Amino acid sequence: MATNQVRVRFAPSPTGPLHMGGVRTALYNYLFAHNHGGKFILRIEDTDQTRFVPGAEDYILEALKWCGIEPDEGVGYGGDFGPYRQSERMELYGQYVKQLIESGHAYYAFDTPDEIAAKRTEAEANKSVWQYDASTRMDMRNSLSLPADEVEKLLASDIPVTVRFKIPADEEVVFEDEIRGVVRVQTKVLDDKVLLKSDQFPTYHMANIVDDHLMEISHVIRGEEWLPSAPLHVLLYRALGWEAPKFAHLPLILKPTGNGKLSKRDGDKGGFPVFPLEWNDPKSGNVSSGYRESGYFPEAFINMLLMLGWNPGDEQEVFSNDEMIKAFSLERVVKSGARFNPDKAKWFNEHYLRAKSHDELGSMIQSMLTEKGVDLSAEKCVQIAAMMAERSAFAHELIAADYLFGSPEAYHEKTLRKKWKEATPQIMEGLIAVLDGIDSFDATSIETGFKGYLESNELGMGAVLPNFRLLVTGEGGGPSMFAIAEFLGKEETLKRMRDGLARITA
Ligand code: GLU
Repeated sequence: MATNQVRVRFAPSPTGPLHMGGVRTALYNYLFAHNHGGKFILRIEDTDQTRFVPGAEDYILEALKWCGIEPDEGVGYGGDFGPYRQSERMELYGQYVKQLIESGHAYYAFDTPDEIAAKRTEAEANKSVWQYDASTRMDMRNSLSLPADEVEKLLASDIPVTVRFKIPADEEVVFEDEIRGVVRVQTKVLDDKVLLKSDQFPTYHMANIVDDHLMEISHVIRGEEWLPSAPLHVLLYRALGWEAPKFAHLPLILKPTGNGKLSKRDGDKGGFPVFPLEWNDPKSGNVSSGYRESGYFPEAFINMLLMLGWNPGDEQEVFSNDEMIKAFSLERVVKSGARFNPDKAKWFNEHYLRAKSHDELGSMIQSMLTEKGVDLSAEKCVQIAAMMAERSAFAHELIAADYLFGSPEAYHEKTLRKKWKEATPQIMEGLIAVLDGIDSFDATSIETGFKGYLESNELGMGAVLPNFRLLVTGEGGGPSMFAIAEFLGKEETLKRMRDGLARITA
């Protein structure tokens, strides 16, 4: 690390949509950077051309934007350490590979994929596992095992060549993980990883280390699936004579059952999204749902992810962006897997929806309706917000009650069966007359008129209200009928009551 500034990066490969685990990695990096007054960098790791998926990079950028996890530097954001897309940095890596070869830390290997596969098959037949390492490398065709003149010849020919890292034979690699504590790994278990592929592209390990160094990354915060690579990375830093960054490996996000890693299939099965945004797979044509399209607010999604692998040490669950930044620390990231709970995700959304003012919800309602070709005044939309906020977890549920926008097409069976009595038509006629007599048709006046009608006729709430609702909305439950009647207006309310009566008694 050349400076003392905190510089962290999110380094996705554009091989598909970002999984919510990836978004959480980005979030924790972002929070850590902001907590330390540092920089959050977005680097696109696209050296593996075979896994490139069109549209994936744009998806990543859009998803981060939607979540409000905006990088300070990186692809789409610029900065002094660019370019930030590895495919644009290709000429940089070769010199470091060369440095490793010259210092004896790496070597040329000429083995073909078939030769390597044959070794593996042979080992499997003997119920053992083969890997390219200190114990086997001298049996292979490489610049350590072959005479120098043959190596020269092979290098001059057009035979494919890779470069492998020479893992020390028998050593213990020790490093400190900010979340897991001291990690010790015996080099005996590590293999001589390829650093430069036969197409002369660097592998993930090589490009990742060079870029983290050149971009002066202070902390590598990434998913647990990269923990097995960390010892190799530590050795690579050492071999290049560079100070390694600090490492922090985040716990896996587990299935709702707690058994195994959360996958796309779990989402399909459980009916919840695992991606931030909807993803149209360019190859299969399959569409996977996204949190955004499913009606989640980005704040709720982020808050849910914050709590999926981190805890504040007290009971607080709801955090604003500023609060998250202030409270976040790697020490409080949990070590064991974090079980995803779709109900909790919904709970967060409900919370954020209800925390919004009716004016704010009103304008959301107005634009959702406009999109559906329904023109409704701002005032009416605020009325809907007031009626529906407490009964909704998602924005689209605010406008899910069809009766707000049109007469009922059918009448709730059970209410009809249980509540509609012989005397009901007459009681409803009486109610129509009372409502008709109310001049200012607001919820309070309607309620007063309604209650007066019950009292003077010695009627119980249960005999009148459900049937009133049935005629006006067709439903067996819902928000206050007085608010609904005000929203619909006198003319519409009475029309629906008369039509309903006619239809039910027909
Ligand atoms: N490109 C790797 C990925 O796709 C980055 C891993 C790391 O952060 O080192 O996750």
